[in-house]
Amino acid sequence: MCHSKQSFMKPAIAFFILIATSLSITEIVFATETLVIYSARKEHLIKPVLDRYTEETGVQIKLLTDKAPSLLVRLKAEQKNTRADLLITVDAGNLWQAAKQGTLSAVNSKILQENVPEHLRDPEGYWTGLSIRARTIVYNTNRVKASELSTYEALGDTVWKKRLCLRTSKKVYNQSMVAMMISGIGADQTKAVVKSWVANLATPVFSSDTKVLEAIAAGQCDVGIINTYYYGRLLKKKGDLPIALYWPNQSGRGVHVNISGAGVTRYSKHKDAAIRLLEWLSSPAAQNLFADINMEYPVNPKVQSAPEVAAWGAFKQDQVNLSKAGELQKDAIKLMDHVGYR
Ligand code: FE
Repeated sequence: MCHSKQSFMKPAIAFFILIATSLSITEIVFATETLVIYSARKEHLIKPVLDRYTEETGVQIKLLTDKAPSLLVRLKAEQKNTRADLLITVDAGNLWQAAKQGTLSAVNSKILQENVPEHLRDPEGYWTGLSIRARTIVYNTNRVKASELSTYEALGDTVWKKRLCLRTSKKVYNQSMVAMMISGIGADQTKAVVKSWVANLATPVFSSDTKVLEAIAAGQCDVGIINTYYYGRLLKKKGDLPIALYWPNQSGRGVHVNISGAGVTRYSKHKDAAIRLLEWLSSPAAQNLFADINMEYPVNPKVQSAPEVAAWGAFKQDQVNLSKAGELQKDAIKLMDHVGYR
């Protein structure tokens, strides 16, 4: 019957029905939101968390993974044409650069303000930390007693001559660490400290934290500075090694910490949805998933670290806002160059 009716329909009405039908299909497609994330976090570290979000909310997520500097260049080049809604990356230095080049948008979220301690998010709301990594001292347990260690600065004492190993100053982790030291003790003192480190090096600088750890385990050097999760990863892979973490500056400014974090892009077409995802990532429901997968610390103080991470012990962390890592990055690079830290 329907068929017979349709056959009498005027072409204009049929056309109208066709348009109406295709419109409703379009609307359905738009109802399941899709967010595009540019991520400098490796896919295996972030995908399980995002899959959980899709399960809980139905929001689809497209992930584009690349190195942080490439993603920053890409965002800057794409401007308004970008499909990215969220940038996820490591190191406050990178997030600060993304904000500085005008590719992030300021977010004012009560939930983020409640879930993320103030020093781990941008004062203007352009980015927020989602997990914490501590950049701390590691030592060879056969050759060094913990009681011989005290501060980052003291690694420049002559007792450590030809016993220190460091990663290259080209890595943003070290640029941020030195920037935060400048913020804590001033440029002159920092310069003297970094110079004294260079004088104590046992080997040329390494290309990765893992290589620093391996050199210390092998007795090539006795002390070094690394991000905690590399220590966790290496022990997981190689079992018992004669290396241990030490928490420096505990009676002073505390251990240098950094973040992995995120910011909503300036030209996102789904800002509200992107903010909701960011808020969810900072919530207790997501924090363990996000942090534990890379053996990092949750940013949300209401959330406990994974037992394997908690086993490394509690420590006092530097409370200075990590935006300083960005603001002083250029100064840090110049200073390291001046004293011959390659
Ligand atoms: Fe790393």
